[in-house]
Amino acid sequence: ETMVNQIAAGEVIERPASVVKELVENALDAGASRIEVVTAGGGLALIRVSDDGAGIPVGELELAIARHCTSKLSDDIHDIRSLGFRGEALPSIGSVSRLTVRSRTASADSGAEIRVEGGRLTPVRPAGANRGTLVEVRDLFFATPARLKFMKGERAEATAAADVVKRIAIAFPAVRFTLSGTDRSTLDLLAVGDTADARLERIAQVMGKDFPENAIGIDATREGVHLGGYVSVPSFTRANALQQYAYVNGRPVRDKLITSAIRGAFADVLPRDRHAVTALFLTLDPGHVDVNVHPAKADVRFRDPGLVRGLIVGAIRQALAEAGI
Ligand code: ADP
Ligand code: MG
Repeated sequence: ETMVNQIAAGEVIERPASVVKELVENALDAGASRIEVVTAGGGLALIRVSDDGAGIPVGELELAIARHCTSKLSDDIHDIRSLGFRGEALPSIGSVSRLTVRSRTASADSGAEIRVEGGRLTPVRPAGANRGTLVEVRDLFFATPARLKFMKGERAEATAAADVVKRIAIAFPAVRFTLSGTDRSTLDLLAVGDTADARLERIAQVMGKDFPENAIGIDATREGVHLGGYVSVPSFTRANALQQYAYVNGRPVRDKLITSAIRGAFADVLPRDRHAVTALFLTLDPGHVDVNVHPAKADVRFRDPGLVRGLIVGAIRQALAEAGI
């Protein structure tokens, strides 16, 4: 069982940033309005994510860290409203680290915690806890030293973990996110609400105020697929594509088709070695996109890639033209 989980961990948990992604998504699924992330040693020494969400009932703590136990599976695989649905993250993390899950639901008058070390379980015991859940991951990959060798160094891992928080935070402006710890990247993103204005405010919190000041709005629909958001003017560019934020049905994605469509749209106005800054939101029928091609990657598979590409290129070019660029 530990072995199976470690193999799964190789798929789901590539690096500290993958742990941060899974834990933050779990907190969001639990309806948290405040999520605190703490890291140390690039996340390899410590990742702690605490939330004020629904919590896990004492009787379900052990299940939560058992393989393929999810409280979120719905009958229709395409109808995935929650972010997690495989029930693989916690058991995978527990098989390659020292994991503690401490939680209390609103109706319970005390909390409880469970620990797993390299797959070995310590029974549930009472523990003081606020409403919500705290997940602490120490010594990531101590149980799989081969994996440790692939890490890029604490600075790079900390940056990747911060990037995950930023990408997710843009999609959830009503949630307060903080990132702190001994790693240099810190964030405090106050909750700003759920309106379109709030989204722009969150974008400014994450990407800097100068982005909205140098951006053009996008709002276009083609055959039921909607593209909204912002792209920078050609004078506001970067040497890499890291500042390109893209979302499909509210999920952060890193997708080749989207990146290449953005490049195509800017081809006439930007040199090849410069990249536009973007925050783009695609909305389409969930049945027309598979956002779970790979558990850890943020790739998506569109049923009609040509339509999506055409929409992105067309909408950006039109917006640039209307802005006289
Ligand atoms: P999945 O998210 O795919 O269901 P996970 O392994 O990430 O699988 O989590 C297993 C289960 O543990 C979840 O289905 C959920 O019931 C519970 N859980 C995990 N994290 C939290 C959290 N922060 N708040 C409430 N419940 C949680
Ligand atoms: Mg999950």
